[in-house]
Amino acid sequence: MKCDECGKGMLRESKVDYILLGQNLGKFDALVCDHCQETIFLGETLDLIEQKAKEKDLWGIAAKTRIGTSGNALDVKLPKQIVNFLHLKKGQEVLIEPIDQKKFQVAIMG
Ligand SMILES: [Zn+2]
Repeated sequence: MKCDECGKGMLRESKVDYILLGQNLGKFDALVCDHCQETIFLGETLDLIEQKAKEKDLWGIAAKTRIGTSGNALDVKLPKQIVNFLHLKKGQEVLIEPIDQKKFQVAIMG
């Protein structure tokens, strides 16, 4: 099967590590392009990956939240699953950095 992504390589069956949120869920069947390394997981495998991610509490961690106020500043409420995943504690030092005008990242300092 030819690769749709680059149009040059061939897709070959392979076992590939699936990394979610920096954690390796294990090796899964995939089709990998021998030219551009495009990796495709098929439907049945995606179900397995989802199951594995749920076992490890890594599934559906992203959550909507709202900006609140705190004195003159604004604050962001962090949903519990994010607090748990990142092991955040009150008073912990973080670095906030805008990526662009639609995104910012918060890096945990210590
Ligand atoms: Zn390709």
